Amino acid sequence: MAHPFDIAVVAADHTVYSGKAVSVVAPAADGYLGILSGHAPLVAALTVGELTITPPEAEPIEIALSGGFLRVDGDNVLILADTAELAKEIDIERAQRAVERAETRLREGPAETDIEHARMAMLRALNRLRVARRGL
Ligand code: ATP
Repeated sequence: MAHPFDIAVVAADHTVYSGKAVSVVAPAADGYLGILSGHAPLVAALTVGELTITPPEAEPIEIALSGGFLRVDGDNVLILADTAELAKEIDIERAQRAVERAETRLREGPAETDIEHARMAMLRALNRLRVARRGL
């Protein structure tokens, strides 16, 4: 069996997950990154995407992540997240409202900085919907 290691996912105001894992798949800025026990020390920038943590002998845990950093240091993996929600914590209606708001802003063709904000808000909200629906 794969050797378990420690993982913590920390957002600004609380620890979203802390426990043992046998694998972690994280949305790194340059593609999804898989971590198993014995991974070389690493710091990687993260982006909007799904974080999957597989604990020993349990179903994978899905988390909607919107960026941050991942550090691997021996048997410790730390994720400092811009925002992170477990699938069951995601408010689906709120994410749907965020998609609609972003769509309206993009349709109205605002200033360039606002377009980028709306585009990122859309990506965060669609990611939340994907993770929440998978967790149902
Ligand atoms: P909204 O416009 O609905 O606030 P947002 O993408 O601007 O969405 P963020 O700035 O990414 O929100 O997150 C702000 C805080 O709200 C974070 O703590 C994040 O975890 C939480 N959050 C945002 N959207 C949701 C959601 N749909 N369900 C649960 N928590 C959410």
